[in-house]
Order: sequence, then structure tokens, then C-alpha cells
Amino acid sequence: MCGIIGIFNHRNAAELATLGLFAEQHRGQESCGMAVNDGVTIRLRKKMGLVKDVFTPDKLEFLPGSIAIGHVRYPTRGSSSVYNSQPHVVETLSGPSYVLASNGDIVNYAEIRKEMEDKGVYFASGNDGELLLKYIVYHVEKENYSIVDAIKLLMKNVKGAFSTVLGTKKDMYLFRDPYGFRPMSYGQTKEGATAVASESNALDILYMEWTKEVNPAEIVIVSTEGLRNIANDPNEFRSIKSDKHCIFEHIYFSRPDSIIFGENVYEVREKIGAQLALADEITPDVVVPVPDSANFIALGYARQKNVPFALGLIRNHYVGRTFIKPEQTVRDESVYQKFNTLPNFFKGKKVVLIDDSIVRGTTIRKLVKLIKNAGAAEVHIRIGSPAVKYSCFYGIDTPTRQELIANRMNVQEIEEYTGADTLQYLDIKALEKSVQHPQDYCYACFDGNYPVT
Ligand code: AMP
Repeated sequence: MCGIIGIFNHRNAAELATLGLFAEQHRGQESCGMAVNDGVTIRLRKKMGLVKDVFTPDKLEFLPGSIAIGHVRYPTRGSSSVYNSQPHVVETLSGPSYVLASNGDIVNYAEIRKEMEDKGVYFASGNDGELLLKYIVYHVEKENYSIVDAIKLLMKNVKGAFSTVLGTKKDMYLFRDPYGFRPMSYGQTKEGATAVASESNALDILYMEWTKEVNPAEIVIVSTEGLRNIANDPNEFRSIKSDKHCIFEHIYFSRPDSIIFGENVYEVREKIGAQLALADEITPDVVVPVPDSANFIALGYARQKNVPFALGLIRNHYVGRTFIKPEQTVRDESVYQKFNTLPNFFKGKKVVLIDDSIVRGTTIRKLVKLIKNAGAAEVHIRIGSPAVKYSCFYGIDTPTRQELIANRMNVQEIEEYTGADTLQYLDIKALEKSVQHPQDYCYACFDGNYPVT
């Protein structure tokens, strides 16, 4: 998973991009990068690590310019190395330069890469963003396509998820794949600066007035003359005639203060919680979320059941997302580093413990043990998503099917494994009731129905 940012026509573009990337740090914590254009030179800085460590004020001094394109990365395509981090830059001998940052993943990566390599295109990384960039640059520079036509060709031939920002020395192009898997929206200031971001929360912090989401297959050209929207019909480029937004963005990935796919994330999470409660026979003494991602799900559950909601687990915010660690041993330990219980809080209580999802089962197992050790009489796990049984090929790093606990164990076995008294997942039909346009979502990680193969 990744986050992108683009700033256009602002004298402190690098500062704004840094703030935007910081607001999107939850979308990727492994590496970050930024390319800044002052009209003559494009300067690039990419490093492993967090935004606050990579883009310090002394480093920003060396990134002058009014157009900045940035990226935070959590690897899906390509190994964990700075070569695979984004943005990617191409400087051509004839003069034009191009920068690209993208969020998503390409399904036919190997095929398109081979096609490009056969035409003499060189790749320095195994990253999908480089493929998108070089596909466009090749067609513009060698085949005389306009940039817009090259993007349309890409939409036709390159399959998968891409919410992308492309920069030239003068302009910025925003575009999204025909299914609109990943979010992306843009806004403007009264002074004429434009910002694009994966999530709207990053625009809020920049005081950008939110304009809208980039629609699936739409291309938005941002230039000094203003904005031009090319509203392509997404059905020209796709076999299923509906959008396929990632439902997991609402369940887990996006920040609750963002608006994505036309809905407030926190509201969808509250509805998910209410749906969980409606399907649940238990009346608990207390409902406790696994903070922070399950907070609104648990709130929705508690309201629906009219039972107390309490933040019984305290989270250390400096550990990072548990899942985002390379080795299983590190992951196991960091669950304990991350959570602690309130003193005397759980004693004798019948607890409903809510998390947004179970992937490998590492987090929830440790938490049940922690809460039982704190004296809880019963711990009932309720999960704000159906069982994750299939890997994602559209930009979320789900492990192999073998590593997904729901593929190896049924509900009863997971109850035994975690030590929970009961476990209940959200039914997929109930999940569909939590969003306004359920047909416009991808549920492949739950049902294996992949819209793009
Ligand atoms: P696990 O401990 O492997 O079962 O992972 C589940 C936990 O990781 C849940 O608490 C989720 O909040 C979080 N999570 C779920 N999916 C992802 C993902 N793709 N990347 C990072 N974290 C995730």
C-alpha cells in the first residue's frame, strides 16, 4: 500500500508535499520520496524511513520549486529497497523530463515489462510505478503519442490498480485506473495552487479546498492555465461495467477523517459496527476496540447494542503498524510493545473485543491472552470484515494464501488457537449494507472474485 501527493503552483511545494506525505504516513512507512521541479531542474530525494526523518527542514532547502510529487511506500511490487521506492524520474536526451508516483499494483506487470524491454526500454527497479512511467514516456517520445493518448493506451493495456500523478517540467496529470481501486482526490487554494493526494485528510492539512475525487479512467490536466478534466468512459477500458473500489480502504487502510469513494470513512466503519451488533446474540459488559483502526467499528457496535464502549487497550503510537514488519519474530514481539491494558479494568467482565480484520492471527491471539491475563471472564472476538482468505493483487500486501489463518483454520479452530470464547466475522452481505453502492466495490480478498486477472 502506498500514498501519493502532488503539489502544483506553490512556491513552497516541497514543504507542502512533506506535510501531505506526513498525513499519509499510515499508508506506507518503509520508504518515502519526492521530486521537486523548479522549471529547469528536477531534484529527487528518496530514502528508506519515515517522512519526518527523510524530509527535515535542512533537506527541504535543497528542494526548491513549485511542482512537487511525493510518495510513501509500503512494498507490494518489488523488494524492500530504495530502488523500488517512488517517485520515478525519466530525463530524456531531447529535453523533456517526467516524474511519476502511483498507488496500486499491476496485474500484467511481467507481460508489459517484457513488451517494453523487447522495445529496448531499460528498467532499474521491479516497481510498478517505473513501469507506468516508462510505458507513457516510450509512447510519447518514441511513438509520438500525446501524453493523454499514452495514458489512454495505458488504461487499455495495463491491467490493475493505479491512482497516479505524472509530472512534466510544466504540467501535472492525474489519472486513475478504470475500476478506481485506490482512492485519489484533489483540491485547490484560492491563490491557484493545486494538490492531489491519495486521501482527503492530506488535503485538509494543506488548507486545500476539496474539489473532488478523480473518477475512474478520468484524466485531469493541471497547468498554469488551470485544470482540464478529460472524463473518459471507464467502460471503454474494462470488462465489468462497474467500479471496483477496494473495500479494505474503508475497513482498515484509510484514515477515518478521509472521504473516499464518496463516503466518510468513519461513517462506513460505524455502519460496519452496527451490522456486527445486529448479527450478534451476545450482550457484553463492555465493548473494547483494538485501537486505532477498530475504534469506529466498536463505537457503531456499542451504539447499536446500547452497551458501554471503553478504550480498555492503550496503544503505543510509536511502534507503527504491527503488520508492517519484515520478520515474524519482530511482528510477534511488537504486538506486546504496542498494546497494554488499563489497570483493573477487565476484571470479571464479559468483553467483546473488536478488530477490523484478522490476517495471520498474530495480533488478536496476543490480545486475547493479554485481556484474559488482566482478569476478563469472557473474551468474544468480533471482526469488522469477513474472513480474509485470498491475496490482494491490487496494492495491498496480503501474505500468501497459506499464511492467511482463515485458510488454515475454521472459526472453531481459530477460537481455540486464540483462546477466545467465541469468534464472529462480519458477513459479506452485512458488509455490503455498510456502503452506499455495494456493487462498486472489490471484495476479492474475501470471496476470491478478482475483477481483473
Ligand atoms: P494479523 O495480526 O496478521 O492477523 O493482522 C491483523 C492486524 O493487522 C489487524 O489488527 C489489522 O488492523 C492490521 N491489518 C490488516 N490488514 C493489513 C494490511 N494489509 N497491512 C497492514 N496491516 C493490516
